[in-house]
Amino acid sequence: MNRIAFVNGQYTAQTMAAVHVEDRGYQFSDGVYEVIPVMGGKQIDGIGHLERLDRSLRELKIARPMSDRAMSMIIDEVVRRNRVRDGWVYIQVTRGVSPRDHAFPKDVEPALVIYARPKPATARRQNAENGVAIITAPDQRWARRDIKTVSLLANCIAKQAAKEAGAYEAFMVDGDGMITEGSSTNAWIVDQEGRLITRPAGNEILNGITRLALIALNQELGLEIVERPFSVEELRDAREVFLTSASGLALPVVKVDDKVIGNGRPGSISTRIVETFERYVSGADTNIAAGKTVA
Ligand code: PMP
Repeated sequence: MNRIAFVNGQYTAQTMAAVHVEDRGYQFSDGVYEVIPVMGGKQIDGIGHLERLDRSLRELKIARPMSDRAMSMIIDEVVRRNRVRDGWVYIQVTRGVSPRDHAFPKDVEPALVIYARPKPATARRQNAENGVAIITAPDQRWARRDIKTVSLLANCIAKQAAKEAGAYEAFMVDGDGMITEGSSTNAWIVDQEGRLITRPAGNEILNGITRLALIALNQELGLEIVERPFSVEELRDAREVFLTSASGLALPVVKVDDKVIGNGRPGSISTRIVETFERYVSGADTNIAAGKTVA
């Protein structure tokens, strides 16, 4: 199928789309992005993702390419033209094209790219049912992890280490031995009292839209959520471990490095969370995280 992307203000065959050699995203990773999952033909938390995109742009003083309304229309059109029912939409905004110079150029137009890819739900469902293995790896990122920049090299290195270990994800560890988050996911544990523990939003983690959705969905679950850093030891000794991300929703973790969690099968609380997400994404309102991103 001929995939269509929105590049430089136009819908273009993806194979023909080109980015300028002096795009600041390409040269300086001076850009931000979002990935909106599409499940059963619906965008999940599209509003929350666009709100976080706005926040990332503001934090880096990158101009907003257009209104959220206009961008939503293009996103819908890219999903439609590529006939994506299950998959994701990728949105990237870079500061724009300008003669190479580290300092921000004046009066530059931001460069917007939107494309979509299908991805069957089978792998996610299988991971949700069986659980996944993770490893721990040092967090080698910069100090503004709350901004969703395209500067992902440290995340890629951590994910590659996971892959080489036959694991799904790497939970990253800060200088104090505390978990920050996964290379592309937020990290959660369930303690012996059944409380959910996750790192608070701040400069140290990306405030996941799925993380925010779970906090909102907890109205229904009624669990106690404690937002505080937790250590590698607490992770290994946890009753249950799970991770959240837009593409995986919630996935139980059954192994941390060489340590089996519980009996090696998804625990009861993680399973309830997985089921709650399944109900949520098949329901009418799929924007529960709207209005929840931190200013
Ligand atoms: N942390 C990082 C570093 C990520 O890249 C992602 C994926 N965007 C997440 C957490 C999860 O965020 P979300 O739930 O918005 O996908």
